[in-house]
Amino acid sequence: MDILHFYSIPLHTHNISPINTHTLNTPSSHTLNTNMKTQSNNPLLLIKLLTLHSLLVLSASQDFDFFYFVQQWPGSFCDTRHGCCYPGTGKPASDFGIHGLWPNRKDGSYPSNCDSSNPFDASKISDLMSQMKSDWPTLSCPSSEGLTFWGHEWDKHGTCSESVLDQHGYFSTALNLKTQINLLQALESAGIHPNGSEYSLTSIRDAVKEASGYTPWIECNTDSSGNSQLYQIYLCVDSSGSGFVECPVFPTGSCGSSIEFPSF
Ligand code: AMP
Repeated sequence: MDILHFYSIPLHTHNISPINTHTLNTPSSHTLNTNMKTQSNNPLLLIKLLTLHSLLVLSASQDFDFFYFVQQWPGSFCDTRHGCCYPGTGKPASDFGIHGLWPNRKDGSYPSNCDSSNPFDASKISDLMSQMKSDWPTLSCPSSEGLTFWGHEWDKHGTCSESVLDQHGYFSTALNLKTQINLLQALESAGIHPNGSEYSLTSIRDAVKEASGYTPWIECNTDSSGNSQLYQIYLCVDSSGSGFVECPVFPTGSCGSSIEFPSF
């Protein structure tokens, strides 16, 4: 019998919806065992079946196609009507900070909160703590050290890429990606400064493309007076987290054609 027909399930894992290995449409272990018993006089076939089973479980548990790597301008988080609170370590640097590394699908949808059995555990990233505090600063209120923010990012997004990156890998990958593109320098080299002036959306996009080689997506929000401003910059990363790629799809939403870049 043809091995794929033995399983009679499609190999197009992108069509398998939401990630959850517990509900994966693989043959039940009962079916597998029964079939294995009948085939057990053929050791080569048994090995092939076991390998195929592992491959199917592995590939199907990666229910995303790429990551959005999202960096945030702290001035635009803080000057909204909600305001912000600095962490105990004081005012973060006047630089873009990481918001998150978000698994996403080519159709624009994304998995979230994929594994409650693997909650955020700060002890797994103790060696990254000083870099986390400087490059992934928390700004929400009440003031905290960042564990709540990082825990939210791991629980909501990180657990959906755990087949590729464990907790330490998830955070160290994001920290490493930040070192590969200096967004503030990219903007300042193009004459775009965080001084409250307005800049064209195109000039911001072009400056990041010039520095990174990839077209970013720009997200805006509004300050407490209702002005549209540069809030977050998205770049895409391949599904193993190893480098930037062109975005297969951009998020939806829009900025004005001219946006403010507030100070921080
Ligand atoms: P997400 O669910 O990953 O899209 O992140 C959105 C949540 O992250 C919201 O609750 C935001 O208030 C929070 N958030 C965004 N930026 C920060 C930040 N710099 N510090 C703390 N919380 C943040």
